[in-house]
Amino acid sequence: MKKYIVGVDVGGTKIATGITDRKGVLKNKVILPTLAKEGVKVSIQQVYSSIETVIRESKINKKDILGIGIGAPGPLDPARGIVINPPNLNGWKNVPLVDMVKKKFKKPVKLENDANAAGMAEVLWGAAVGYKHVLYVTISTGVGNAIIIDGKIYHGKNGMAGEGGHITINHDDADGKCICGNVGCVEALASGPSTVRRFLKKNVPGKHFPKKPKSAITMIDLEYAARAGDKAAQKIISEQSKLIGIWLGGMISILDPEIIVIGGGVSNMKGIFFKNIRETIPKHSINLYAKKTKVVRAKLRGDVGILGAASIMM
Ligand SMILES: [Zn+2]
Repeated sequence: MKKYIVGVDVGGTKIATGITDRKGVLKNKVILPTLAKEGVKVSIQQVYSSIETVIRESKINKKDILGIGIGAPGPLDPARGIVINPPNLNGWKNVPLVDMVKKKFKKPVKLENDANAAGMAEVLWGAAVGYKHVLYVTISTGVGNAIIIDGKIYHGKNGMAGEGGHITINHDDADGKCICGNVGCVEALASGPSTVRRFLKKNVPGKHFPKKPKSAITMIDLEYAARAGDKAAQKIISEQSKLIGIWLGGMISILDPEIIVIGGGVSNMKGIFFKNIRETIPKHSINLYAKKTKVVRAKLRGDVGILGAASIMM
């Protein structure tokens, strides 16, 4: 049996490529800054060279590689293996990435939306091992999710299911204009940058914030200030977790999952953040079991992109 899988996480800022075994143990990895501005040809060349490098450096026999899994930002078509036109990958328009990588490396190749891939990795190797009906959500710069039904990613008719981050949770919040064109999406109100923006609109950063321009303040600074006792920071984070709880209550009404796994940078806030989410959910769901639905923090942290990409080959 072939023992290893190559996982490639193509992002707007970095291309992270690694080799993992069937248990999700990473053997080695290579991370390159994506030369997105130099266009599609250059960044695809980077994908090739990162795969060549990890294979070479791992010293494994190429025959032992089961295949290459690629995670990339949407929109993409997983069935045809085409990256359609992600906003943060300059010049990538209808790129038949699966065929290109297949031709180059003569191995089976699969492509998946990065949030779906991360969700699959949590099911195979992370916080949702042993569960079949899983809602994975990632909250960081954006809000994404993966719907896993009977152990399989649910793609919908056009491969575009699982964009729950763009569900409207407050349609008359003028502050909630979203990059997708909609208003009041959970992403526009509760992602990391959205929460910082909403905080700065009403507050001046106090003594627990680092000395830097307002425009440079991040969700990490906000979290730090909240932990240090900044009341305004605590208030906005409490609002953020409630908004996420409202959204997840609705998601439970639709999906009735066994477990919700929350990943992404924002999930590093433990305690009160998760407590608020768990308390809010049942108030916004018709599902009788909403209160009992497990809500846990993702287990695979920094390497989830690579592991996610690899997991889709399993
Ligand atoms: Zn949106």
